[in-house]
This record gives sequence, C-alpha cells and structure tokens, in this order.
Amino acid sequence: MSLKKLVDVVEYDRGCSNVQRIAVLTSGGDSPGMNAAIRAVVRKAIFHGLEVIGIQRGYSGFIDADMGPMNLSSVADIIHRGGTILRTARSEEFKTPQGRAKAHENVLRFGIQGLVVIGGDGSFRGANVFHEEYGLPVAGVPGTIDNDIAGTDYSIGFDTAVNTVVEAINKIRDTATSHERTFILEVMGRESGHIALTAGLAGGAESILIPELDNNINEVCEKLYRGYKRGKLHSIIIVAEGAASGLEIGKKLHEMTGLETKVTILGHLQRGGTPTAFDRILASRMGATAVEMLMSGNAKHMVGIAGGKIVSESLADTFKCKNAIDLELYKLAGILSI
Ligand code: ADP
Repeated sequence: MSLKKLVDVVEYDRGCSNVQRIAVLTSGGDSPGMNAAIRAVVRKAIFHGLEVIGIQRGYSGFIDADMGPMNLSSVADIIHRGGTILRTARSEEFKTPQGRAKAHENVLRFGIQGLVVIGGDGSFRGANVFHEEYGLPVAGVPGTIDNDIAGTDYSIGFDTAVNTVVEAINKIRDTATSHERTFILEVMGRESGHIALTAGLAGGAESILIPELDNNINEVCEKLYRGYKRGKLHSIIIVAEGAASGLEIGKKLHEMTGLETKVTILGHLQRGGTPTAFDRILASRMGATAVEMLMSGNAKHMVGIAGGKIVSESLADTFKCKNAIDLELYKLAGILSI
C-alpha cells in the first residue's frame, strides 16, 4: 500500500461504537506523564467522536460530582508538564459501598458510559470493585513511579523518576570524589526496589539495597573496604526507603568502618519534573489504547506494555501480585561494581 493510501486509511479509520461519553480521572500518587495520558485519552476520544468528562481529585471528585466536559484545548500545552491537571487524591469514602453508590449516581447523572482510571494498583482495586458492582466499563492506565504494577513492564513516570535519581547520583558523585566520602542516597520505593535498582545500575552505585531481597550490611562494608584498599576515592550506596532508612544505614556503616558517611534523602522531588520522552510516548500509547478498550463496551482491563508491545491485562490480575524486579539486573549491578 502506498504511503498516501496508508495516511488516508489512518485519517478515516475513526471506528464506530455505541459509547458516546467517557470520563477520565487520575488517582493515588501522582507521576510524571499523567498529563500526557490525559491528553491522549481526551484527543483520541474526540477523534472518534466521543465526549469526555474530566473528573477532578480522583475518586473524591467522582463521589462529589466535581467533574466537567473536556475539549481539545483543555489538554493543550500539557504534554511536557509533570503532575496532573485533573489533580489526584486518596478517597477513603470510595472504599465503602455507600461512597461508591454516590459515585454511581453521578455516572447516571452525567451519562458516563466508560471510565479511564490513571493510577496505581490501589486505584485499580477501586475501579475493579466499581465495575463488579455497577458493570461500568473501566480501563486502567498504570501511572506510578514505583513500577510495581503486575501486567506491565513499565508504568508511566518510572523512567522520569529513574532519570531524576541518576541525575542526583551524578551530582553526588562529583562531591563524593572531591571529598573522598561515602554517600548514601535514599530513594522512593516502600515496597518496590525498581527505582533503586535501575537508577543504581545506571548511576554506577557500589551497593543497592532493595526491599525484595535480604540486604546484608556486612557485604556492603566488605565492598567498601575492598574499594578503599584499591584506592577508590568514594562510594555511592542506593537504599530504597522500604529496605532501610538511609540515615540508619549511614550511621551503621560509619560505626562499622569508621568511614565518613553522608546521607541524602531525595524524597518527593522524584515524583515531579517534566516527563521524559519515554514516559510521554508510553502515556500517549496507553491513553489512546484505553479509549479503544472502552469503545469495545465491556472493558475491565488495564493497558500494559510487554516487550515493547501494548497489551491488555485483566484489572483483577494487576493487584494480586507485584511486578517483580529483574534479578539479572541486580546480579549485573553487583558484578559491575566489584
Ligand atoms: P495508588 O493507586 O497510587 O496505588 P492508593 O493505594 O492510595 O494509590 O489508592 C488510591 C485510591 O483508590 C484510594 O484512595 C481509594 O479511593 C481507592 N481504593 C484503593 N483500594 C480500594 C479498595 N479496595 N476498594 C475501593 N477503592 C479502593
């Protein structure tokens, strides 16, 4: 088929569906790239002739009817912005049948025929139970820097957070080298070591402590010793917050080795910032696919990515277990930092 023909097909393949109005919300912890996902949902839906309602503050706005129509210009100039223009929240009320009943009244009042939920596994639990109770088609888009959602290799915001940590490691390395110090960098990940592991490997960290594995402080000390004996000027140790407190590790290492240790806790700056190109493209693909799922009329799935291809995973399977860390990556990080 000629390129001209292909473009024609793309331009006119707008599909046909009985679904006329969908809604979108962001819920739980925010992550960079959520805006790019909202933009994709709104524009893809409008492309197919659908109306889109934007719900503010996650399930709280769903319950409180804090929602309104979105159009092409509602999502102009946001692809590069971190956070979420729809804002996000945690809603205890949505965890109750009464809270969800109020949300359902709004589904009827606003004529919502499908819902895109951009968030983490907690948000998907909520979407799944709502679907089970009221049958509303729901499409999940994984947005969390932790990358801990089962059924997708990557979630939106993870790549940006990793790059933020790598940038911090680069800067800390400069001062660590100059002062011959041991630096401990505590990064986010209460139950998941994806950020610590990926950023640690990319930043050349000497040791990486993650919650999924037993972390042996003696091994960290031995590695430090070996390095200093070789004349190594500095060391960087990455600690996921769920593995240990960076401050405690710093104290212990100082007590055990006598070396001067400095601790940096990166905290919430890992959640912000302009999304990387990877996250923007991922968000665009996932947001657009979520609309396609809803147009089919019976979605109760999450959009995922596996081996570079967009896939669909039953929502109920996304929170039964966590996205496992790649042990090969962990081993490689250990080998390359001997
Ligand atoms: P994340 O989506 O980032 O994992 P949370 O775990 O805080 O964030 O979940 C976000 C929201 O999803 C909660 O505040 C709540 O409104 C809703 N939610 C979480 N778990 C459930 C559940 N079991 N039933 C109903 N709603 C839930």
